[in-house]
Amino acid sequence: MSVDKVLAEVDRAAGEIVDFAARLIRIPTVNPPGEEYDACARAIGDQLRAHGAAVQLLPAVGRSEHTERYPRINVVGRHAGSSNGPAIHLNGHFDVVPPGHGWTRDPFGGEVVDGKLFGRGACDMKAGIAAAVFAVEAIRRAGAGHALPIEISGTVDEESGGFAGVAWLAEQRILSQERTRAVIIPEPFGVDRICIGHRGVYWFEVCAEGRIAHGSMPYLGANAIEGMSHFLDLVRDELGPVLFDRITAMPVVPDGSRHATININGIDGGQPVDDSPSPCVADRCRAVFDRRFLMEEGLDQTRAEIAALVAKAQARMPDVRFSIEDRLVFEPTHTAEDAPVVTALAEAIARVTGRQAALVASPGTYDHKHVARIAGVPQCVAYGPGQLDLAHQPDEYCAIDDMIAATKVLALAVLNLAR
Ligand SMILES: [Zn+2]
Repeated sequence: MSVDKVLAEVDRAAGEIVDFAARLIRIPTVNPPGEEYDACARAIGDQLRAHGAAVQLLPAVGRSEHTERYPRINVVGRHAGSSNGPAIHLNGHFDVVPPGHGWTRDPFGGEVVDGKLFGRGACDMKAGIAAAVFAVEAIRRAGAGHALPIEISGTVDEESGGFAGVAWLAEQRILSQERTRAVIIPEPFGVDRICIGHRGVYWFEVCAEGRIAHGSMPYLGANAIEGMSHFLDLVRDELGPVLFDRITAMPVVPDGSRHATININGIDGGQPVDDSPSPCVADRCRAVFDRRFLMEEGLDQTRAEIAALVAKAQARMPDVRFSIEDRLVFEPTHTAEDAPVVTALAEAIARVTGRQAALVASPGTYDHKHVARIAGVPQCVAYGPGQLDLAHQPDEYCAIDDMIAATKVLALAVLNLAR
């Protein structure tokens, strides 16, 4: 029976899976600025080619972040199916965040210790890429036929928005409603959890403009920082409790993020604090906010609420002029809980782990948004090895047992979906 054969091929490939993930970790694809993308895209491409896939290296031509110094190179491998239907697509980003401080191991060493593979990007998400690559290879080695084409892509810049990565693939229609049946992104949600979507992002800037005057006669000016403080008071005292009372029906983890949230990312106003004294009333203050909104709230309501709050601050301090500017907007995404891609993964999880799959949603966003919004593919989930809370941390690792189990789950799910 092909299922047992496929599972046996994953077990047989265990060493190769770990080696390949370790090899990817040793390529320091740090973003920003986007180091070594070319080398990593080639390493993934070479592996896929060795597995018999038709491979394309795809520089994100036309994107301003694609430069000679830091080229943005994506890679796609494709195995044709016996029919010419839409593909089952596995996508992983190969950029990683900078290692930061506090490591007790080489962040780019790809060391294996006590059954764990260590390194920046181990769980987020080079182990996931290795799992995807070898899930498909196990299907091939088992000789299990499939009707639909199977594709695997490695993409750039997820950590900085994914515009030259998955968004670009979608704009080029490499990922599209016509060409793509379902997308699985092996982000580290764990071996028995399927992530069906994420909250929305409304990232905006508020600017307060006052009137400069001599600091010894502040009553002659209008202090922009004082103006901003009115807005900050309103965010904390009025908006904060309202947001806390809103809870989404989406299964967002951790629990705290089932509520709507807002974060004050940064503030900048008046004269730089380290400058030599020049007594002036601050005539400008800007602050940036990160509002994560729920599917139930929607973008329009979220925006209108902020505009009303700014109007209130304006009324409290008419001498200061307030304005709002959008910085980044992502709509929430939500794949139907009974979509075939969810069912196929849940069945595979039950078969491989003996446990019932948990459906979760992500507090932050990932490339799902581009698959849903630009490519227009409604079936997209994240499923992959590793623990989410180790992502972006020092001593990031992925347990090897998890990598093998997730490879098996992906293989069975892909086999089922591509049948
Ligand atoms: Zn990631």
